[in-house]
Amino acid sequence: MLLDVKGIIHTPGDGIAFNEELDLSDVDFGGVCPAVRPVSVVGTVRNIAGMLRLQMNVDTMLSCVCDRCGAPFEKAFHVSVERMLAEELEDDENDEILLLDDGAFDLDELAREAFILDMDTKMLCRADCKGLCSGCGANLNVEACRCKKEIDPRWAALQQLL
Ligand SMILES: [Zn+2]
Ligand SMILES: [Zn+2]
Repeated sequence: MLLDVKGIIHTPGDGIAFNEELDLSDVDFGGVCPAVRPVSVVGTVRNIAGMLRLQMNVDTMLSCVCDRCGAPFEKAFHVSVERMLAEELEDDENDEILLLDDGAFDLDELAREAFILDMDTKMLCRADCKGLCSGCGANLNVEACRCKKEIDPRWAALQQLL
């Protein structure tokens, strides 16, 4: 959605609120598209003493696959974005400022960018996920490793002697 802020550019104290749902189900992270549900984009643009300030919250519930154990899990996603908006840049180096195009900007594009930049690089079902045993493939979160039980019975007999 293009958000037109022309109406408040010259009116200090004025503001515009927005509340939309965005489809980010096509955003792919290593073969997994976790945003299976609509993404909520809620915020305001306010004219504070002549400067336009955007505040936005991007929220959804992700459907993830654990990078370590392969289990599916759900995880709340939240990112807060604050940006200044301007009709023209005084300093080219300042990439914190979002440039308006004919008094408007692409809200969806900004939310999509924030979503991608804030995504965890590693998806874990829990911080201490033990993952799968590389030997027997057991999911070590829910079962014990079976590798030891596959010891040659002759070795087992020898271990009992020791
Ligand atoms: Zn896991
Ligand atoms: Zn094992």
